[in-house]
Amino acid sequence: MLMCRDLAIVASDYIDGNLGAVDNLSVRMHLLMCRHCRSFIGNLRSSIQLMRGHSDNVLDDRLARRLDREIDKALQSKSKGGPDKD
Ligand SMILES: [Zn+2]
Repeated sequence: MLMCRDLAIVASDYIDGNLGAVDNLSVRMHLLMCRHCRSFIGNLRSSIQLMRGHSDNVLDDRLARRLDREIDKALQSKSKGGPDKD
């Protein structure tokens, strides 16, 4: 079963259509059950589209990775109730 954290890791690949059939299905199943991730994916998709609009239709790879890390960090701190310094 895909967890919210797992979804955050594959979110940009999901939006880009880069996931395999099984992973893609797992994400879709999770989104059916989890409105937080539905809203998260919706926001991420909007952000990516916005950035693409400003960068000649190509999302910079480094930017995408940075976004992934930021998302992961945000979800980790949310699930732990605060930033983890260790
Ligand atoms: Zn979720």
